[in-house]
Amino acid sequence: TSKDSGKNKFSVFDQEMNRHQLRRMSLEKDLRKALARSEFMVVYQPKWDSFMNVTVGLEALLRWRHPEHGIISPAEFIPIAEETGLIVPITYWMLHDVCGQNMLWHRAEVANVPVSINMSARMFEGGGLYDVVEEALTRSGLEPHFLELEITESIAMNNMEETVAQLSKLRNLGVRVSLDDFGTGFSSLGNLDEIPVNTLKIDQVFIRKSKMHSKKAIISNIIAIASNLNMEVVAEGVETTEQIELLQSLGCRVMQGFYYGRPMPVHELGQWFIENTA
Ligand code: C2E
Ligand code: MG
Ligand code: MG
Ligand code: MG
Repeated sequence: TSKDSGKNKFSVFDQEMNRHQLRRMSLEKDLRKALARSEFMVVYQPKWDSFMNVTVGLEALLRWRHPEHGIISPAEFIPIAEETGLIVPITYWMLHDVCGQNMLWHRAEVANVPVSINMSARMFEGGGLYDVVEEALTRSGLEPHFLELEITESIAMNNMEETVAQLSKLRNLGVRVSLDDFGTGFSSLGNLDEIPVNTLKIDQVFIRKSKMHSKKAIISNIIAIASNLNMEVVAEGVETTEQIELLQSLGCRVMQGFYYGRPMPVHELGQWFIENTA
């Protein structure tokens, strides 16, 4: 009967929920040990100047090599790391790893470009970020303007006074700041001029739908805002030549996306730089 099938569906749903919760709990348990077990790996995706045809930056992205499940996507484990607070020591580790790696590329004269690291909201709680950034720079010997922090609009808006104070200090040190996934947050435009930001990164949803007149209008306006506020602009998620042509026609030169390069492990970047630098 329909009553029975309804009951059945509910139990299937229940099992699905349970399966999800169990995986979440097991990942959380493993995540607590992942740093000590060296299971994290940083991959780097190029930011590309499409007029000059050179690499102008890299974004560092975290990968977790789980001993049983293989590579786990940040979309799955970053939220767990944020909820548990584990994102703080993980990001501290990453700051040291990324600054050290970038300095190795500089010394070997392989590459001389800034590398960005994504910051969760948690990083601005407690006020410890500045000291760790300074220590990572001092220990590696990397000049501050070769390090960039990517924050989202919601991080900047949430507890704005405190976040802006910390960002200003970091900017005074010479560290660069970019606004990630720009255009997807709300209520940001009114205070955009008050956030110390070098670069707006246009979110990939706009690029994906850039054939639509309305999305094109939004992209065009983000580029205009950046230009008027003396900020740079990077288009995210660029995958096709049509998108590149459109972005270029709107005056956007720096792009990041699978068309130019996927996120790559360190051992692949040496060769990549040889083929893709000025
Ligand atoms: P994000 O910072 O906006 O990073 C860009 C994401 O888009 C990356 O996914 C990248 O691989 C992907 N991507 C780049 N080009 C293309 C493209 O052409 N097409 C498509 N479909 N995707 C593209 P990833 O590495 O899976 O990271 C997802 C998100 O996880 C990041 O978004 C960021 O919010 C977060 N994340 C990654 N690593 C870290 C980290 O170390 N710390 C923190 N706090 N968050 C991180
Ligand atoms: Mg990012
Ligand atoms: Mg983004
Ligand atoms: Mg994103």
